[in-house]
Amino acid sequence: MRQKRAKAYRKLMQAYSLAFGFRQPYQVLVDSLMCKEAIDHKSDLVKQLGVVLQGTVKPMITQCCIHELYLQGKAVQAAVDLAKTFERRKCNHKEAILGDDCVASVVGDTNKHRYVVATQSQPLRSKLRKIPAVPVVHINRSVMILEPMSETTAEAKEKAEQAQMLPSAAEAAKVAQGKPAEEPPRKKRKGPKGPNPLSVKKKKVQQPSGPVSKPAVSEGADQTSAKRKRADDGHPDPANPEGPEKSGHKRKRRRKGAPKPAGGSVDGNNASDNED
Ligand SMILES: [Zn+2]
Repeated sequence: MRQKRAKAYRKLMQAYSLAFGFRQPYQVLVDSLMCKEAIDHKSDLVKQLGVVLQGTVKPMITQCCIHELYLQGKAVQAAVDLAKTFERRKCNHKEAILGDDCVASVVGDTNKHRYVVATQSQPLRSKLRKIPAVPVVHINRSVMILEPMSETTAEAKEKAEQAQMLPSAAEAAKVAQGKPAEEPPRKKRKGPKGPNPLSVKKKKVQQPSGPVSKPAVSEGADQTSAKRKRADDGHPDPANPEGPEKSGHKRKRRRKGAPKPAGGSVDGNNASDNED
């Protein structure tokens, strides 16, 4: 299952748990068509249910649904064998009724037993969407799908959430204020993970390079600048053997600059030319 879908399903089941009190192991009513579908695709139905609902599951089948399979004989023996491994849900229908009707009656108007329904029946799925708080699972091309929350269920969820906030307006305000308060702890959780490696890295980088390299650079700069100053002053330090060399450089510089004084006479000539 792709991560994006897994996340969506996890959120969906969390919503069912919070709003309607769904608990693991999730009780999953499996109908006869679903049993056959799983056998046809050679898929591990129980395992798939666990993956999609992201929790432990207790597959169940009603008496009427397994009766439907019995009626079809040996052609669906594998499906019967699968269904026999599920917990039998007593429905108290003295004469077996259609599987769809049986599942619908067991779920009732409010799904008070908090069943998840795994069915391949399109009419039953549409019917269950009109009942609040019924997670519906079906298989499409061997991929198990947890249907998005139906409008009826979403409305019931909103009502349930409002009911939880009803006790007083002050508490509702607290909840509203509590939202920003809830966020900082999440940041704190993230915090320790981030800063630790970063701070360790910074210390490793700064401590060795900082004290060692910076003085070396600054001293070198001071020395060179001091040498330059001495050379500029024209007073070589007798104690410093480099002094004469520096002065030598300085003389070279003067020699390079010499043409200018020589040009001074040229300038003088130019000046005289200008005078003319
Ligand atoms: Zn029944």
